[in-house]
Amino acid sequence: MTNNDLSAIASEFGNPVYVYDAAKIASQYQRLTAAFSSIGDLRINYATKALSNVSILKLMRQLGSGLDTVSIQEVQLGLAAGFEPQAIIYTPNGVSLKEIETVAQMGVQINIDNLSLLEQFGARHPKTPVCIRINPHVMAGGNSNISVGHIDSKFGISIHQIPHLLRIVENTAMNINGIHMHTGSDILDIEVFLHAAEILFDTANHFKNLEFLDFGSGFKVPYHENDIETNIEELGEKLSKRFKAFCKEYGSDLQLVFEPGKFLVSLAGHFVTQVNVVKQTTSRVFAQVDSGFNHLIRPMLYGSHHHIENLSNPNGKVRFYSVVGYICETDTFGTNRKIAEITEGDLLVFRNCGAYCFSMASNYNSRYRPAEVLWYEGKAHLIRKRETFDDIMHNQVEIELGKE
Ligand SMILES: *Cc1c(COP(=O)(O)O)cnc(C)c1O
Repeated sequence: MTNNDLSAIASEFGNPVYVYDAAKIASQYQRLTAAFSSIGDLRINYATKALSNVSILKLMRQLGSGLDTVSIQEVQLGLAAGFEPQAIIYTPNGVSLKEIETVAQMGVQINIDNLSLLEQFGARHPKTPVCIRINPHVMAGGNSNISVGHIDSKFGISIHQIPHLLRIVENTAMNINGIHMHTGSDILDIEVFLHAAEILFDTANHFKNLEFLDFGSGFKVPYHENDIETNIEELGEKLSKRFKAFCKEYGSDLQLVFEPGKFLVSLAGHFVTQVNVVKQTTSRVFAQVDSGFNHLIRPMLYGSHHHIENLSNPNGKVRFYSVVGYICETDTFGTNRKIAEITEGDLLVFRNCGAYCFSMASNYNSRYRPAEVLWYEGKAHLIRKRETFDDIMHNQVEIELGKE
């Protein structure tokens, strides 16, 4: 898809608008599966929370993906998109036993990440297969050291609690069919990831009836020029080799699972906004767009970098801008950005807006959330309407106030 396609979509559907390129999602999916093509039983479970539009989920299903979900609502979205319950894994954190039981009853694979609920669930449903999320306490240090920090993370069952974990499994006679980890940090150093994988293998050796090992995600995509990205091909080569050796020792061909979100959808997303005001102050030039952190919170929340281009004047003289939003609170998208000269009314596009962008959008300042468009086989398909004032009022209850 081209910049002209993006401009045409903005004039057809209005702005701001999120646009997703289905072909890019498919090529990322294929790149990942190709890197692990020597694995007999490979499973990709797309992490729904990155971008949860039901049409995106349908596209994932068409590609052959399963789903990773973190709430019962994401499970319901997956079912609405046509996934079989068996194609869904549910990896919640800090949810109630009741929600886990309800999801288990739906036939979805349960993944439990704390000993308290593991014991309660195992005691009540010893026959239901359960995956265990461990915390390997491994994270990439700034200089590729292996750090055992992360000890205070709220995710996963600490590997130091394995004896207690084994006692619970034995006492309840529950059925553990998978071991999972997802450290949440970007895989910048493949050796660090492989080190964490060894801890997963060590844990797996304690269980006799495993069906799969889930290595989570952490695949990093480049957000700006010269940015580091995970070398998927190298990871594929090294981890596949080690995984196959492990399966041999273990005595069974297990399924290898990944659950990428960002890797599959980030690069496919383009967020198109329009410049309302160009404001020269004593120290800089602001370009203010018809959006804010209500639509794209990553720069303010995580300091994330999203590349910005001027769609309306692509060959203009490059100048420095601070691109900000229209929210009545600081909502900076980028400072000191080199962008082709901006005039009020120009369309700006933000890149890498597929993952954790729309899915984190809100109605702050009582603004409408944007429309979403899927670019599929050379055509634009509206997959979410722009909100209207009815959406703002929906669920609000106006009470009758007493008269003085
Ligand atoms: C969010 C999440 C993912 C996806 O992470 P990405 O960085 O988007 O690839 C995978 N697994 C679990 C359990 C998650 O919570």
